[in-house]
Amino acid sequence: MCNHQLSITGYDLLGPDGREGLRYAWRNQESKYFVESASFPQRSVSKKDDVCGYTTSVSAGCALRTFGAQCLFCRTGNVIPFGGLLSYRDIAKQNIFMVLSDMYCSDHPELHNRPREFAYMGQGEPGLSYPQVRLAIELTNRAMRELGQTVYRHVFATSGVPESIEALKDDIKNNYYTQRVTLHFSLHAASERALIMPIEKHWSYKESLFAMRDMVDFTGEKPCVGIMLFKDFCPRRTDLSYSNELDRIKEIVSDLDPRRYRLSFCTYNATADISSSSPYPKEEAEKVLDYVQSIGFEAKLFSSFGRKEQTACGTLGGKMPHNLPSPKWFELETMTEDIIQRLQYRI
Ligand code: SF4
Repeated sequence: MCNHQLSITGYDLLGPDGREGLRYAWRNQESKYFVESASFPQRSVSKKDDVCGYTTSVSAGCALRTFGAQCLFCRTGNVIPFGGLLSYRDIAKQNIFMVLSDMYCSDHPELHNRPREFAYMGQGEPGLSYPQVRLAIELTNRAMRELGQTVYRHVFATSGVPESIEALKDDIKNNYYTQRVTLHFSLHAASERALIMPIEKHWSYKESLFAMRDMVDFTGEKPCVGIMLFKDFCPRRTDLSYSNELDRIKEIVSDLDPRRYRLSFCTYNATADISSSSPYPKEEAEKVLDYVQSIGFEAKLFSSFGRKEQTACGTLGGKMPHNLPSPKWFELETMTEDIIQRLQYRI
């Protein structure tokens, strides 16, 4: 694990004039690759509910790469060398800093007091960092209370480390968390999953689905299963061409009980350095949604912000930011570190 603190190094605007949000770049020791986080004034493209969304990294690069198990569609896993798991302080630091930067943003007073959603979906597989992520969540909660901010929820995401799902369940049952934490499991495929997600060779997706099956009973909320809408997905240096057309979706969801899981579909953001793909036709996506809803699933089609700037799902590449932090940001970073220093030992 990295023992050092991340330091803020720069940022990029997402969308025209930064309307979609900001990508933050953090220096990580001597690595030429940056750790990245992102903030969005609205957590969802389609649902404008005035909740700010934050995407946070749990490691520098992805630990799955160390045993050749990185997802073939992911730029982080395939471009950035693994640089260590982040400490809970460095994970929470990203959250707290991003919130402070919204709270003190003079151009956008509407961001000062919005509820905050934190998704552990930046660089890294959170399932391999659960002990640090759980501490980071509670440190963030303490900081938000001190700052008078509302936590909407935390989203713990995994590509399928069943032990982390069991640990999350234990923590929820034992009331460890003081704010809502939900689970997102990235499934994406069934019988051919090992081809695009080699983590499948280590942990079968069926183990994760089994671990999740009773969450709705004690949380009252169905955990989310993510399915990427690939079209002619072709990873570089392979002759694979994979599409999640309706028949494949039918096969994938045949393992799932609509009373126990809800579904989230996302179109794939190809980046030329790792893969090619075709756009998923809107009518096909609508047919997929209609089908799963007709058999009883709650389902949504998710679109991510920051596609163009390669900040969307699976496209983080640790690149140099275009803008340097202002002096105010260094003050906010000092404020963040003071908060962490004061609250870190009380967990
Ligand atoms: S999608 Fe997540 S788990 Fe898969 S390689 Fe990328 S960072 Fe790692």
